[in-house]
Amino acid sequence: MSSNGKQHTNGNGNGHGRIYEIAERIATAEFAAFDPKAEIEEAVRLILLNVGEDPERDGLLRTPHRVAKMYDELLEGYRQDVATIINNAMFDVEYGEGEMIVVANIDYTSMCEHHMLPFTGKAHVAYIPRDKVVGLSKIPRIVDMFARRLQVQERLTNEIANALHEHLNPLGVIVVVEGQHSCAALRGVKKHGVNMITTAKRGDFRTNPALVQEFYRLAGL
Ligand SMILES: [Zn+2]
Repeated sequence: MSSNGKQHTNGNGNGHGRIYEIAERIATAEFAAFDPKAEIEEAVRLILLNVGEDPERDGLLRTPHRVAKMYDELLEGYRQDVATIINNAMFDVEYGEGEMIVVANIDYTSMCEHHMLPFTGKAHVAYIPRDKVVGLSKIPRIVDMFARRLQVQERLTNEIANALHEHLNPLGVIVVVEGQHSCAALRGVKKHGVNMITTAKRGDFRTNPALVQEFYRLAGL
């Protein structure tokens, strides 16, 4: 073993060898030649085999390709960042001091990190500008960026609030996320349409309940 005590485990006979091999390749210069989509296709073929299917039959032949493409779209948020999305689209606007801007009913599609099944719903956001406002289209794009990663709804809500609080430097931010989780609907919790609601408040929304009430009224919640 080397003096820093680190030891690489290159497959130990318990079936994890391939995962370590892939992790090793990602960690090394081979990354440049690494094709994540091809690896996902291979993984989907393994799943098909292991549930007792024949990945070579007609209907399944292109399934690994489709699934890899789908993950590429549904998880594109890993390749995005808030600063690039905002792209300096911050404006000086005459607006009443302490007044809020509400962006309600933002549809999102996310994927639960526990089961890799979709959850969908609406996000409702408000902020109280300090001196600048952000372009209207940017807030739904920020919601999308965090939604298109493996998520739990609680963290999704917090990450949206933190990003807006950090990048808009507002007096306050509130985020309410509603979500319907297909993992709950499909797996025994037979309550279809059950709605989970999560909230995150920053700044003035934390200390002033009247602002929260006003937000709920304006957002129609
Ligand atoms: Zn789940």
